[in-house]
Amino acid sequence: MVKHLYIETNNNFEALNCNDELYEYIGKKELDNIRNIIPEHDFVTLEKELPQIKVGETIHICFRMLDKEGKYYWMASKAHRSKHVTSIIRLDIYDLRTTEMDSAEGFFDNMTGVLSKSAITDYAKKLMQQTPRKQFYYFLMDVDNFKSINDTYGHMKGDDVIIDVAQIAKECVGDKGVVGRIGGDEFALVLEKIHEEPELRDVLREIRYNVREKYADEDNNYTITTSLGGGLFPDDASTYTEMFNLADKMLYIAKAKGRDRYIIYTPSVHGDIKDETELITLAQRTMQNKTKNTLIMDLMSGFLLKDNISLREAFEKVIATYGLDEIYIVDKATGKSSFGLTSGGKECDIDLSSLDSKDYQPLFETYPIKVINMYDLQKEKYLKFSEFMILNRFRIIIVYYMKNVAGGSYLMYASNTDSACRFAETDFSDLTYFSKMLELSGKLL
Ligand code: GH3
Ligand code: MG
Repeated sequence: MVKHLYIETNNNFEALNCNDELYEYIGKKELDNIRNIIPEHDFVTLEKELPQIKVGETIHICFRMLDKEGKYYWMASKAHRSKHVTSIIRLDIYDLRTTEMDSAEGFFDNMTGVLSKSAITDYAKKLMQQTPRKQFYYFLMDVDNFKSINDTYGHMKGDDVIIDVAQIAKECVGDKGVVGRIGGDEFALVLEKIHEEPELRDVLREIRYNVREKYADEDNNYTITTSLGGGLFPDDASTYTEMFNLADKMLYIAKAKGRDRYIIYTPSVHGDIKDETELITLAQRTMQNKTKNTLIMDLMSGFLLKDNISLREAFEKVIATYGLDEIYIVDKATGKSSFGLTSGGKECDIDLSSLDSKDYQPLFETYPIKVINMYDLQKEKYLKFSEFMILNRFRIIIVYYMKNVAGGSYLMYASNTDSACRFAETDFSDLTYFSKMLELSGKLL
């Protein structure tokens, strides 16, 4: 049931009168100032908006409020300035806790201190429900090639990067909106105080710049970059789901264009994205994950139990399911491929023999599986190999070192520079399973 609470206040936010439900909600018998039950960040908004309410006017405003257990929950409120006693503002407050919010662990993401996924989602949804409709920008932000940061420098370093990126985003957004973490290295920005594109560009540029600067060394190696994508509510999308999908698609374009950029939805450039079927939404990606899991299971039983699947068939399926461009098996001793297949179904070759093995073996053999990204490859250290990647138009290659195959072999999964291939979180472990299975199946002997 939706609880209805109210407070009468003035321009100094003194609580002049409250209903019993409110006292019950906060677990106190009296309240001096509403500042005491609203977190500072949300109070800033009230402080700006409430004194400006005109006589007889009603505005809608969202904020979190402290309950008797000491937890903050989102409230939607109507703030109305009385026509009779013009110094009094009445706040009608509704506890709009959803089941989703009830089950959420917390409002703040433990690791980064920005809003949690459920809190930022709820916040955006509540903002969208306000009448008259409020205009605001909604953006998704994702760290580029984050997996290779984890792979190269370890998970702890990865955590530090996530914390820093969250902090930078929060600082750059300031009081113009809120930041929430919606997944591993993915964040959402609700920029409710920004309505003009130049101001938006300033904030997005600053985030990108500050993240880059934080991690750039003097040779510009080990740079960490971010991609952002989003648009304007309600101009570009009219519901939360539509807005999220739009931002997700813009982020996807930013990634496909080479990362380290922001894309603001522009109808004349991106068209009507609702009809766009080419780009993959998050929901579709989740569906794809199901297909992927089934594929790995099928291949496992095909390879190991039934022995009714050929290497070519397996490669074809893996290429199609993961959107890869090419797969190769490369002999460690000669540097030449014994088998390769393209997404077009053509057999192909690759030849590393012109490179010295020290040009790539340290990269290939540090971990059983290694993600090598053209953009963050330490170019000085691996100059020859970096040239080789450019020459072969490899954007990302995932290399699995099969040391149990006679003489040693590399399995190389390639995504090309002009391809739209984007790996999901689970793809790397899937490909590890697949590689391991191939290594153990005896099909490569
Ligand atoms: P892209 O440029 O396409 O975004 O590439 P990416 O490597 O960043 O890919 P993606 O965003 O899909 O990968 C996110 C990775 O974040 C996958 C997962 O292993 C890692 N991850 C998720 N949560 C955490 C975390 O809390 N800490 C650390 N260190 N890593 C995490
Ligand atoms: Mg990422």
